[in-house]
Amino acid sequence: MLPDAAECAVRELSACTKLESVMTFGGEPLLFPETTLAVHRAALELGIPKRQIITNGCFSRDPAHIREVADELRGCVNSLLLSVDGFHAEHIPPERVYPFAEYIAALPGARLHPAWLVSPEDDNVWNRRTQEVLAYFKPLGMPVSKGNVIFPGGRAERELAEYFPQASSPDLTLPCGEAPYTDPLDRVTSLSIDPYGGVYACAMKIGKISEGMAAVCERYNPYANPYAAALMRGGVRELVEYARSVGVTIDPSAYRTGCGVCRALLAKLGGRE
Ligand code: SF4
Repeated sequence: MLPDAAECAVRELSACTKLESVMTFGGEPLLFPETTLAVHRAALELGIPKRQIITNGCFSRDPAHIREVADELRGCVNSLLLSVDGFHAEHIPPERVYPFAEYIAALPGARLHPAWLVSPEDDNVWNRRTQEVLAYFKPLGMPVSKGNVIFPGGRAERELAEYFPQASSPDLTLPCGEAPYTDPLDRVTSLSIDPYGGVYACAMKIGKISEGMAAVCERYNPYANPYAAALMRGGVRELVEYARSVGVTIDPSAYRTGCGVCRALLAKLGGRE
């Protein structure tokens, strides 16, 4: 996504509704700092109160560029979560992150943001590594957020399966809004935009920024969208039935959560009517 398009999406959405918060997150948003900064500069200018970024802090080998981006962020972001934990450290050596962390450590709202496995207290190899990584950054005096507890979705569902309780089959009846980071589809409080300009209400693709955010929002009617309507009628179980009726099938037992089944089905169905 080019900076102009990202900025335009924020401005258009802000004209539709009073935005409380804008967040850029990954992947890694600072691999494209101009686009990310365009989002936050626009959010600052529009008076959006919370302007947040989640970054792993590893985006350049050039100290001047690292400093320049950090300075720009300090001017427009008021919450910066630096993802540092055993998982990131597997591929991103903490030494590569430290120079960026030094520049942003004094930003009010900058925090180290670890991901924990099972719980922050659980004694497992990943959490021990995360503790080591946090200790490495301790000289900077940055506060540590309570972090995330990894839930069984995406790669975590596949690669950390041994850490999650075995469920014979996922719960397909849980209503949208109950799982972390989700909303009921008729009371959406947040939208996501992917790097290609796709606009999502939870897992549901509802349009593209190139259509204009006002048009995307006006058109969104979960009662008229067969996938959303099925989910609201009877949860993922109903979506599975609807998909079957149009010739798309899936084995729910291959997933640990109803949301995992939903996302896989929506990907197969194309995400929208
Ligand atoms: S079932 Fe699908 S739409 Fe509903 S909360 Fe889960 S991922 Fe979101």
